[in-house]
Amino acid sequence: MSTKAERLTRIPSVDEVLRAASAAVAVEQFGRPSVVNSVRATLDDARAALRNGRTAPVEIGEIESAAIARLEAEAAPRVRAVFNLTGTVLHTNLGRAILAEAAVEAASVAMREALALEFDLEGGKRGERDALIRGLVCELTGAEDATVVNNNAAAVLLVLNTLAKGKEAIVSRGELIEIGGAFRMPEIMSRAGAKLVEVGTTNRTHEKDYAGAIGAKTGLILKVHTSNYKIAGFTKEVAAKRLSEIARGKGIPLVNDLGSGTLVDLARYGLAHEPTVAEAVAEGADLVTFSGDKLLGGPQAGFIVGCKELIAQVNKNPMKRALRMDKIRLAALEATLRLYRDPDRLVERLPTIRLLARKKNEIEALAKRLLPAIAGAVGAGFGADVIACSSQIGSGALPQESIPSDGIALRPAEKRGSGRALAALAAAFRRLPMPVIGRIEDQAFVLDLRCLEDEAGFVRNLGSLKLDGDA
Ligand SMILES: *Cc1c(COP(=O)(O)O)cnc(C)c1O
Repeated sequence: MSTKAERLTRIPSVDEVLRAASAAVAVEQFGRPSVVNSVRATLDDARAALRNGRTAPVEIGEIESAAIARLEAEAAPRVRAVFNLTGTVLHTNLGRAILAEAAVEAASVAMREALALEFDLEGGKRGERDALIRGLVCELTGAEDATVVNNNAAAVLLVLNTLAKGKEAIVSRGELIEIGGAFRMPEIMSRAGAKLVEVGTTNRTHEKDYAGAIGAKTGLILKVHTSNYKIAGFTKEVAAKRLSEIARGKGIPLVNDLGSGTLVDLARYGLAHEPTVAEAVAEGADLVTFSGDKLLGGPQAGFIVGCKELIAQVNKNPMKRALRMDKIRLAALEATLRLYRDPDRLVERLPTIRLLARKKNEIEALAKRLLPAIAGAVGAGFGADVIACSSQIGSGALPQESIPSDGIALRPAEKRGSGRALAALAAAFRRLPMPVIGRIEDQAFVLDLRCLEDEAGFVRNLGSLKLDGDA
């Protein structure tokens, strides 16, 4: 039996490992510094393991394979495509909107080539990047002017900082939203340098509350679309149209943060009506802000649309430069907006609308086709059934509305330890070559199939499913 000390002395040096034939192949693939680092780390781990009385590889060949396995794991991209079977179509943690083919193509051209980004091709002089999308945005929203920044959080911050820095911004207590993470309206206000003036109560805000708060220090009135929650019951809010009359009467701007802002009436696709940007503009808001990657179905972006003079002020704010959009997303955004010129073909061309409009019977047929493959992959430890379930839009749009969908429910055959079995099952799906993300609901692991379009790819991927008990 070799003692711990003997095994420790048998550990090869970094140079010895690097002289092995397979090391040259690894250097070719990963580059010399990475291979050296990986061999060194593998040797360190082996030494530490032996000192702690555990076993570890000590032969050159073993060290070499362990070092290469480590390199391969490191080389795998961290930004990974997944199957979103959560039932939430615009899932913020899964990257929100999937882009249209036209947008993907436009973005790849923008990455590969020099662009007329801030260059006026007619006059041959310097141009501005907003000019690339202004016409389209104005056409689709009825706004007089438009600009675009990094995301809607940036749009709100920039508008507040431009119009209400050192002044007061009036908001209803029923609309002091938290979007998630660190985006809370009161905090954004203070970062923008605006003093928040809350009016009304959580459930009821009246015209007189706004009117009474307006004074010499008022910079703006902010209306926030309470996108991710709903106050129900004994409630009252002042409609944007009426609020714009009050604001106009006092000569102060009304800003409407729509959040998800859609460019088409979702009722066309059998969904509930979500206020459109054109409606918000027509109701008389001086500026309207909304996201590019929520219902609009484009890349991450934040729009500010509305009156020309205020947009000009926003554009003069030095913060605009810090929050501006890059060329790749701008190209994708232009291509996405262009699709809205032909609303009849949006379902075909724009994934967000296509997935939201997908009919339950089509999804049910898909679930029935997939059931045998899924049941086979999870084995006898789980029961598999086609179930009716509910999808939602996500990203705060119409949070109360559920869209009828279909999916597969997987339930542990054994009642005892079923919570652990479900968690292990969900983890096994996440470990697939293309991770599958579902949800746990009613003691089942549910795969909502609304967003599954690559059926063949899904089945191929499923072939790699390994449950904990599997060899
Ligand atoms: C989502 C949302 C935001 C933030 O938009 P991002 O594009 O995520 O930055 C701001 N306001 C409202 C009302 C929202 O729903």
